[in-house]
Amino acid sequence: MEKRKVGFIGCGKMAQAMVNGMLQSSFSQREDILASTKSVKSAEIVKEAFHIETILDNKQVARFADVLIIAVKPHLYGEVLQEISSYVKEETIIITIAAGIDLTYIESQMSEKTKVIRSMPNTPSLVGEGMTVFCANDRINEEEIAFIKEMFASFGQVEMVDESLMDYIPAISGSSPAYVYMFIEALADGGVRSGIPREKAYKLAAQSVLGAAKMVLETGKHPGILKDEVCTPGGATIEAITTLEQHQFRGTILAAMESCDRKNRKMQ
Ligand code: NAD
Repeated sequence: MEKRKVGFIGCGKMAQAMVNGMLQSSFSQREDILASTKSVKSAEIVKEAFHIETILDNKQVARFADVLIIAVKPHLYGEVLQEISSYVKEETIIITIAAGIDLTYIESQMSEKTKVIRSMPNTPSLVGEGMTVFCANDRINEEEIAFIKEMFASFGQVEMVDESLMDYIPAISGSSPAYVYMFIEALADGGVRSGIPREKAYKLAAQSVLGAAKMVLETGKHPGILKDEVCTPGGATIEAITTLEQHQFRGTILAAMESCDRKNRKMQ
């Protein structure tokens, strides 16, 4: 597959997770990545952490990139696109990673001929366990789709969907690591409450979440069946499940996802 230069405009938490994954998996070489940030200090931090070139000039990144990932906060997309629009090469693929920034918006700020990928990655990409969902506009050809899939797969799992589903992806995989961290923290607090040392409690909680996730992915069994298999009739686990249901555990998660969707729609 053709080698492409990757530019990041903005290199905060999400972009750094992607850079780390791309370097660790050898998908990209350091000299093929260029990132711009807002301040000298953040540019130095990124340079030191990943040994890639970092600059403060977005236009230079736009000229450099065959694949240009816009990794600033959603409200800055308009200003950044205006700044770089005349510097992006016609064949460059622009990738959005922000909730609510759709394909039509990028085309309207650049040109109808612009090649655009709308994606939603997540921060576990930092450890090669990301989940990235994406869609493409009709300027992107099959070879480019294959390249983009390979790039996202270099730091985790990847799924291509229809754009009509993209508004709902942040709630299930973009933001959900935050809910899972809260769950791990709560499990660990419960362990500490019973006298388990805090560091051990985090390990026990996090490994149980990791193991349960792997069971779902690798056995292919329905999560409800896996749950049933842990519950001995008349045992302690079903008591815990009863308490979770009484406190609307699943209903609370569904409501949280709905509020995440609502907020993302407001940001458009
Ligand atoms: P962040 O605040 O950590 O990083 C933002 C970066 O943008 C910083 O490097 C900053 O220096 C840079 N920046 C700000 N203004 C700039 C400008 N005018 N030109 C160039 N660089 C500029 O934010 P983040 O969490 O990495 O989020 C970035 C994007 O990724 C957002 O649009 C967010 O919605 C999306 N995203 C984030 C996550 C996540 O979990 N953090 C997950 C999925 C998608």
